[in-house]
Amino acid sequence: MPTKSNKAIVKVIVPKAEEANIAPHIREILANLGEDPERDGLLRTPERVDKALRFLTSGYRMDVRKILNGALYEVKYDEMVVVKDIEFFSMCEHHMLPFFGKMHVAYVPKNRVIGLSKIPRIVDMYARRLQIQERLTQEVAQTIQDVIEPLGVGVICQARHFCMMMRGVEKQHSGAMTSAMLGAFRNHKETRDEFLALVNHKG
Ligand SMILES: [Zn+2]
Repeated sequence: MPTKSNKAIVKVIVPKAEEANIAPHIREILANLGEDPERDGLLRTPERVDKALRFLTSGYRMDVRKILNGALYEVKYDEMVVVKDIEFFSMCEHHMLPFFGKMHVAYVPKNRVIGLSKIPRIVDMYARRLQIQERLTQEVAQTIQDVIEPLGVGVICQARHFCMMMRGVEKQHSGAMTSAMLGAFRNHKETRDEFLALVNHKG
């Protein structure tokens, strides 16, 4: 039987997220669901789920400065930059079920641009966490605002949520749309309209 002092020691050595073993808890969940965690097909499932969950939440351990890694360039360019159809996969924080879709990101530079490939990586950094779509959209916009300091940022996010599609309301075809408009995208209708036209333009 653990003594009081043992308990105190356990508290001190609580492992960090990277070291904590999730697998035993998954085994317990399987048993609680009425499954046999010892049957062949499930034997290694707890370890697989552990690994999958770590990947799906790896955004917590990403650092925006490392992602950018010097990919900020000073240039005389003040036209809108748009990166369309960035696929993302995230997990809703209410049910820990996936939601996924596309994000469209735009900004109007003020003599500084970012390497185009970095924008999807910023999206991944926030998507690979427990999220709600509204916050994901806002965090991507705010991060781009903070690192590039442009005249404005616009982000539109279209997503479908497994927690709506698979359970409860079961609306398989319903999607949710969110947007975040900062600076010029908020204040100037023309800038916002240009962005929306570019996003809706097919091909
Ligand atoms: Zn949900």
